[in-house]
Amino acid sequence: MARYRDALCRLCRRESEKLFLKGDRCFTDKCAVERRKYAPGQHGQRRRKFSDYALQLREKQKAKETYGLLEKQFKRYFYMADKKQGVTGSNLLQLLECRLDNIVYRLGFASNRRQARQLVLHGHLTVNDRRVNIPSCLIRPGDIIGLKEASRKLTVIEENISRMEHRGLPSWVEIDVNNLKGKMLHYPSRDEIELPVKEQLIVELYSK
Ligand code: SF4
Repeated sequence: MARYRDALCRLCRRESEKLFLKGDRCFTDKCAVERRKYAPGQHGQRRRKFSDYALQLREKQKAKETYGLLEKQFKRYFYMADKKQGVTGSNLLQLLECRLDNIVYRLGFASNRRQARQLVLHGHLTVNDRRVNIPSCLIRPGDIIGLKEASRKLTVIEENISRMEHRGLPSWVEIDVNNLKGKMLHYPSRDEIELPVKEQLIVELYSK
């Protein structure tokens, strides 16, 4: 499957905002946004005036890159959100948050969404005690996300677990640290999703 292979920090620099794509490095002074506060490329330091379309596009790109999705996948979530009752923008973010790879990241089993995606693909995660290796699997309230017994001894997972307590946990999930099991309590509302994205602009972009 196609995927983005260029430097991740370029994506943050393009948005002039931290998208936290690299885990721990994002919290250090090595962060590229901290060091170079301008867009990448030859013309990155030019002053720009954004059109309405450009603003909408940038918000969409920001959300898409944060969750590590390609255009086709992201658009599919938009259509799913549009069909659901309620506010389309909030539905969209809610659907994205309910992806298994995102919840693995939110629970602290992985330091970033990319790593979470890889852990899921490699079969280290279980949902309701059954092995699931599909990162896009949508989790529902009450589902229990756990680690396979053998996978708990992996260095990367041990490191993430040791840092787990220092990371904040969203209010819509809970974790049993002793048994390394997480549970989704309810669907997250917009207020509970910490994402600096103006989702209304994404709706406007796709509604043209
Ligand atoms: Fe973005 Fe993290 Fe790179 Fe900083 S270190 S530019 S937040 S991916």
